[in-house]
Amino acid sequence: MEKIALVTGASRGIGRAVARQLAADGYAVGVNYRVRQDCADSLVSELTASGCRALALRADVSDRAQINDMVRRLEDAFGPVSLLVNNAGVAGQALFQDITDDLWHRYFGVNVDGAFHTIQAVLPRMLHEHEGCIVNISSIWGLRGASCEVTYAATKAALIGLTRSLAAELAPSGIRVNCVAPGVIRTDMLNALPPAVLPQLAEETPLGRLGTPEDIAEAVAFLADRRASFITGQVLTVDGGFIL
Ligand code: NAP
Repeated sequence: MEKIALVTGASRGIGRAVARQLAADGYAVGVNYRVRQDCADSLVSELTASGCRALALRADVSDRAQINDMVRRLEDAFGPVSLLVNNAGVAGQALFQDITDDLWHRYFGVNVDGAFHTIQAVLPRMLHEHEGCIVNISSIWGLRGASCEVTYAATKAALIGLTRSLAAELAPSGIRVNCVAPGVIRTDMLNALPPAVLPQLAEETPLGRLGTPEDIAEAVAFLADRRASFITGQVLTVDGGFIL
């Protein structure tokens, strides 16, 4: 039977690669985006042309009403969501003393409230089906902490706490909740860094390169698969050994 996946922030970067991988694995995919409709539409056209069902869904994950509406549209079109990938995220650097209330709440609004809203929106159908899988995209900075990225690291650490606690709460209902903690991955998110830093980061990575969105997509697909059916509440670090 065809399974239904919802990937937040799937217009670009890691989310786009995750949506592609899940479509290749036989999922019908909801491609959520906030701004880049052009990118979401091009991905949906590509997936549809390859014989998969896909739907572009505009919604700001920080807005509960938009998320509820988005999930309703996806479930009306394709059926109950069995896999949710909470990937949409924002990042940036600032000295702690320069962090404004606005920046703090905006990052938490997208990175943490976004997952909270989206999980609550898909959960009723997962509970009804007594089956489901949730994968949250955290970060190595949520495990280790990062200078000048206190807000971002705090949001990503919060996702790990959410993952472990929710996994314990939902396991008796047949729903697994896991986390992927990517290292440094080549996406637009790295554009904020000075270009000279990237070769340096690759050199600091024991496996000798930066990660690709596809590296993360493979990890998400594994956690979603039946092969991972006894894995819940875990954080899978995918970073080429960066924080060993
Ligand atoms: P990216 O290239 O900047 O893409 C971000 C995606 O999130 C875009 O599709 C964007 O959609 C979407 N998005 C942003 N705000 C949103 C909102 N409010 N509502 C819905 N969608 C929203 O980032 P990425 O590198 O792929 O990162 C994806 C995830 O991996 C993030 O959670 C990030 O923290 C995490 N991560 C990344 C790295 C890395 O090195 N790249 C490392 C560790 C963890 P639109 O453009 O359409 O608005």
